[in-house]
Amino acid sequence: MLSYRHVFPAGNLGAVLKHLALLATLRAATRKEAPLAYLESHAGAGSYALPEDGAAEYRTGIAPLWQARRRLADPLLRDYLQLVLRAQARGTPVPGDALPDLASEVPLRRYPGSPWFARATLRPPDDLWLAELHPTDHARLVDLLRDRAYVHVERKDGHALLRAQLPPKARRGVVLIDPAYELADEGDRVLASLADALRRFGHGTYLVWAPLRGKAAPSQMERGILRLAPAKLLRVAFTPQAAAGMLAGGEGGAPLGSVLWLLNPPYRVDEVLRAAFAECAPLLHVQADVRWLLGG
Ligand code: SAM
Repeated sequence: MLSYRHVFPAGNLGAVLKHLALLATLRAATRKEAPLAYLESHAGAGSYALPEDGAAEYRTGIAPLWQARRRLADPLLRDYLQLVLRAQARGTPVPGDALPDLASEVPLRRYPGSPWFARATLRPPDDLWLAELHPTDHARLVDLLRDRAYVHVERKDGHALLRAQLPPKARRGVVLIDPAYELADEGDRVLASLADALRRFGHGTYLVWAPLRGKAAPSQMERGILRLAPAKLLRVAFTPQAAAGMLAGGEGGAPLGSVLWLLNPPYRVDEVLRAAFAECAPLLHVQADVRWLLGG
């Protein structure tokens, strides 16, 4: 249990997909003034030093976007890269802080995690609830986000956090469920947690990430999510072009791509993601897919 340390896949293709979708969702959700709760069941350390290793996964994830940052036109991609650029310096910005110019000559040494993007996006009346079980990552996350009273970081099981905090007081909320899929039954745990969360807070927005690895796992998850019948269900995925033909047989091993299901996403997040993926997919050498499975 808990041998997984998120530092290895920091900034990889899966992280790029997840964090672009998270940023689009949080920007759209904070357009309304009413307070919002953000809950994350598997939060990680919040910020990662990128390894020197030539095989490190970020080299085919954030690195090509970083190299192209000065010529990218899409507003979501520019927003995301400005936040990654800001993450090279100490501390976390709050909404309204000036972000650095994308033309700045700064080496890519760190990659921010999902709590960092949430913290940079959410406002003081909003509430962040984050669970991280690993003692080292929990301590690093507490340290990174310690300056804000509205951030709650708990060292507990993330599914228990969702049971304890849903429905949120704010009555508006975004929930990210992003486990490492180390345990054989992790997919079942996610589905059980999601079913319980939807019973308590059916109109919440949920983002659920999974690797596109092997034959069964993602499609089983997808069938399970469809059975929960959220009002709207959007599916976004990156499949590396080199791996597209291998998906049917790629059991085990390195993830061949990743998928994120967005339950009840804010208005027009699909359009924002389609536009961003149209520009970044060729740079990342992925097939990007944005598809409504329910509603939309
Ligand atoms: N969401 C993070 C991000 O995008 O930056 C990455 C999270 S990483 C994929 C999964 C994390 O879940 C790891 O840091 C691991 O220590 C933690 N973890 C594993 N089991 C957990 C549990 N039952 N509850 C809370 N955290 C857990």
